[in-house]
Amino acid sequence: MSDKHITTHLVRDTAGRTAFQEHSEGLFLTSSFAFGSAEEAAEQFARPMAEYVYSRFSNPNIKTLNKRVATLESAEMALSTASGMSALLSVVMGVCKAGDSILCGGNVFGATVQLLSNTVRKFGVRVDYVFGGIDDWRQAMRPETTLLIVETPSNPMIEITDLAALADIAHQNDALLAVDNCFCPWGQRPLAWGCDLVIHSATKYLDGQGRVLGGAIAGSEKLLGERIYPFLRSGGPAISPFSAWTISRGMETLGLRMRAHCESALTLASWLETQPQVTRVLYTGLPSHPAQTLALQQQNGLGGGVITLQIKGGRDETWRFINALSCFSITANFGDVKSTVTHPASTTHSRAPEYARLRMGLTENWVRLSIGLEYVEDLREGLAQGLAAI
Ligand SMILES: *Cc1c(COP(=O)(O)O)cnc(C)c1O
Repeated sequence: MSDKHITTHLVRDTAGRTAFQEHSEGLFLTSSFAFGSAEEAAEQFARPMAEYVYSRFSNPNIKTLNKRVATLESAEMALSTASGMSALLSVVMGVCKAGDSILCGGNVFGATVQLLSNTVRKFGVRVDYVFGGIDDWRQAMRPETTLLIVETPSNPMIEITDLAALADIAHQNDALLAVDNCFCPWGQRPLAWGCDLVIHSATKYLDGQGRVLGGAIAGSEKLLGERIYPFLRSGGPAISPFSAWTISRGMETLGLRMRAHCESALTLASWLETQPQVTRVLYTGLPSHPAQTLALQQQNGLGGGVITLQIKGGRDETWRFINALSCFSITANFGDVKSTVTHPASTTHSRAPEYARLRMGLTENWVRLSIGLEYVEDLREGLAQGLAAI
């Protein structure tokens, strides 16, 4: 089917049908698979990448999800995990050893910083955070740097990194570049810009309905098969077949949803920019975004579904805005069909060190909106209610 459009693959590709010829993919809630003979069991166990042995290694629902993520990212291979964080952990465990150094963008998801700073450093891996642009990355490189981690657009400050330029810096040092691509899947394909690994929190847009947790890693067969899969197989951050099945279903509508999320987000971001209670709107679809050209080039013209805005005032005004919104749920998730609102400084980024919050400019008056698929005028009305309450 490789001559077909990606949309078609995401709708139709599965691990295959059973003897019942089910049209809708079955749910394989089984921890293990039976063998026809002792010989067959031994043969399966001897393979570096087992087919169906045990669901920590592989499962038809997981295989479908892996196939769809590989298609989405135009990757040779993809592997899925229990969550976005376990995808990141698996990359670090597969790529790094004691004595190595990791460079991570300073402007990343809060749990990424905690995992790297509190856990990964304990194993003798140096972790440094890079704030600023490409030159700052170049200067931060060390001879022992083996892995660069970046999020673009970043959460929540919508910073954009030039992926091709950063991949060059990584490769000059024989290091790998991993991109957390959770914010603009469908639009952005980091491997096409020369990046080595893509990390997804499938919990967000891939599921798209806020139902289950999941993660995925995409890249070359060599990297994933030789370095990441051995950790997954023995470390066990396996996704449940049910979650894999749910997320694979979500991916059937990913393109449709992303285009709709982006269209509404652009309408609302343009309108928010004209409101007197709002001092700043960060959205890559707007000409006011400092890296709009690069962002739209990397994201295939899509601005994404997340808007970050700064309210005139401090925490009080910002919380009044959040509490008075209608049609937006106050919750940490994003990428849902339901619109959501988050106050990063007191929730997702509350455990980030003070200096990191200050360097990314994350003060108490920033709000992150994830624009859902409600009727856009209802969302505008909901936001107007919030602004009026300030
Ligand atoms: C949510 C998120 C993660 C973590 O994913 P989980 O599925 O919650 O473990 C990682 N990176 C970014 C950018 C996220 O938004």
